[in-house]
Amino acid sequence: MARRARWERFVEIIRTIADMQRLSQGWRRAGQRVGCVPTMGALHEGHLSLVREARRRADRVVVTIFVNPTQFGPKEDFGKYPRPFECDCALCEQEGVDAVFAPEPAVMYAPDATTWVVEEKLSQPLCGERRPGHFRGVTTVVAKLFNAVLPDVAVFGQKDAQQVLVLQRMARDLNFPVEVVVAPIVREADGLAMSSRNVYLSEDERTRALAISRGLEQARQAYAAGERRAERLCAPLRAAIGTACGRVDYVELRSRETLELLTTVDHPAVLAVAAFFGATRLIDNIFLD
Ligand code: AMP
Repeated sequence: MARRARWERFVEIIRTIADMQRLSQGWRRAGQRVGCVPTMGALHEGHLSLVREARRRADRVVVTIFVNPTQFGPKEDFGKYPRPFECDCALCEQEGVDAVFAPEPAVMYAPDATTWVVEEKLSQPLCGERRPGHFRGVTTVVAKLFNAVLPDVAVFGQKDAQQVLVLQRMARDLNFPVEVVVAPIVREADGLAMSSRNVYLSEDERTRALAISRGLEQARQAYAAGERRAERLCAPLRAAIGTACGRVDYVELRSRETLELLTTVDHPAVLAVAAFFGATRLIDNIFLD
């Protein structure tokens, strides 16, 4: 028998939807709560914090690793997205994950699939406007992952604040019996929000990209000092990114319930930013209450 790699010994790798459903149904029959952490792999501390949150809320934790082709635009980085699968499985094993669900694209999508899940409001602005079709891919794949993993609870990061709002709306509107939980953003020591895409940054780009988290922190301080006007919170962040030779995709203050644009922070808000450093598009945000 071939020797198995170390990470293969403990964490179970599931490749088909039927196997995933069987495993989860067994747990559920035994009265165990199932938690799910959907990811595209290239796991970092941000993902692992979601795993720990899922562990607190469930008896079994499934991490899904699937680089979902339908959420990438034709000119985006699907082909070059990092896929360090063995390393990811080792991290899952260390975290005590019960199963990794890692289907091939052909397992997830029939070649003649014609059914999509579309959320029509919260998915419109911000990344929805800049990445046409992105959220249709996200809602469709997460609905399919929910049908495979059959979780009681699924944990997503505030890093993708719009995504989690869209998914909470989807779960509510389509009656998925899944609690969609949001966990805080995990940052590098210098403030950069952790992201699988940070590996694309050159050293120089990475240093300049700190303008995003520093600008957000300045906005947070201005807010704490009493500033409520959207433009006064957004403009310095835009300027900081420009000064660092980044290209702003958007810097917007929006309602955290409806994602409508706000001119003043008069109810829970998100200050959301997307910016390019070199060819790499980074997103980040802070909540203002
Ligand atoms: P991804 O693999 O980038 O699709 O992300 C999978 C999940 O991890 C999503 O729910 C993200 O919001 C979350 N995530 C990504 N980066 C971070 C981070 N720095 N802190 C917390 N959660 C994150």
